[in-house]
Amino acid sequence: MAQEDTALPASLNPAQKNVLSQLGAKPDERPEFSADLQRILKQNLEEVAQTFIRDIPDNESLFVNKHLLTQIMGCEKRYIADSEESFEWSVPTARGTLSHKAIELSIFWLGPKDPLTLTNEALSRAEQGNDSLASWIKDLNEGDRAQLCGDVNSRVGSFLETWPPLEKRWRPMLETPIRVELAEGKVVLSGKVDLTLGSAGGNIAGKVIVDFKTGKFSPSHRDDLRFYALLDTIRIGIPPRLVASYYLDRGEFTPENITVDVLESCVARISDGITRLAQIRFKMRPPTTQAGPPCRWCTISEECETGQEYLANDDT
Ligand code: SF4
Repeated sequence: MAQEDTALPASLNPAQKNVLSQLGAKPDERPEFSADLQRILKQNLEEVAQTFIRDIPDNESLFVNKHLLTQIMGCEKRYIADSEESFEWSVPTARGTLSHKAIELSIFWLGPKDPLTLTNEALSRAEQGNDSLASWIKDLNEGDRAQLCGDVNSRVGSFLETWPPLEKRWRPMLETPIRVELAEGKVVLSGKVDLTLGSAGGNIAGKVIVDFKTGKFSPSHRDDLRFYALLDTIRIGIPPRLVASYYLDRGEFTPENITVDVLESCVARISDGITRLAQIRFKMRPPTTQAGPPCRWCTISEECETGQEYLANDDT
C-alpha cells in the first residue's frame, strides 16, 4: 500500500486518516529482502517436520494453525481437554465470522454502505449455506438472532466509520487462505488472513496484513500475525512489509514491521509448536501442565491438582 504524498484527503475523518498514515509507506521506506530468505525459512521448518515423518500414520497429517499453536504453547493438558470438546457455534463465535463477511461485502458493495444492510446480507448468505453455521443460524431464537445482528452491525459500523474507503489500487483481499506443506504434506501449516493490502514489487516488500480484533490486546494477537507473515513469505517469496491487529471497538492498531529477526523468531516458535503437537498428538510423551490465569476458565480445573494449587493462591 503506497503513500505517494503526505497530504491525506480532507474528506476523511481523523480515524480514517490515522489508518492511512499507519498503513501507508513511501517507496523509499519499503525494505528489501534477500531472494534466498524464502528457501532458508522453509528449510528450517522442513528439517523439524522431517523428524516426525515416520511418527505420523500414512493416512494422517499434522495440521497446525494459529489457534493450535497458541494452545499447545500454553498448557498441554488443557490443549488435549479442549481438542476433545466438540465445537459449537454461539453468538460470540459467530459474530467474528459474520463481521468479516459483512466487511468483505462492504469493500465490493456498489450501493450505499450502511452497516445494517451489510449485516443482514452477510447473515442471509451464511444462512443459505449447507454447513454447521447455516444450521445454527436457522435454529436461532428471535432474541439470539437480534443479539447477533446487533453485535455484527456495531463491528461493521465501526469499520466503516474508522477505515477509509479501500481503493482498488491497494489490491484489498479478504479472508485469503494461506497454506504451507512440509514433509511431503505430512505437516500442514494453514491460516486465513482477514485483510491484505498492497503487494511486493520484486524483492521490495509492500504488502500489509491486517487482523481485525475486538477487546483488549493479547500477546497471542502478535504471534498470530507473525505466523501469517511467515506463511506468506514462504508462499510469495518476499515478506509482508507490516502486520497489524486492528481493534474495531477502539479504532486502534498494534502494528509491527516485519524483519528477518521477527521471521526467525517465528520459525523458532512454530518449530517448537510442531514438535509439541506431534509429540502430544501421537502420544510420544505425556502432556505437561502449565498453571496460570487460563486455569480460571479451564474446563478440567476441578480435576487438575496443578490448577487447583494455582487457583488456591490466585488472589488477582
Ligand atoms: S487447570 Fe491449569 S494447569 Fe490444569 S489443565 Fe487446566 S490450564 Fe492446565
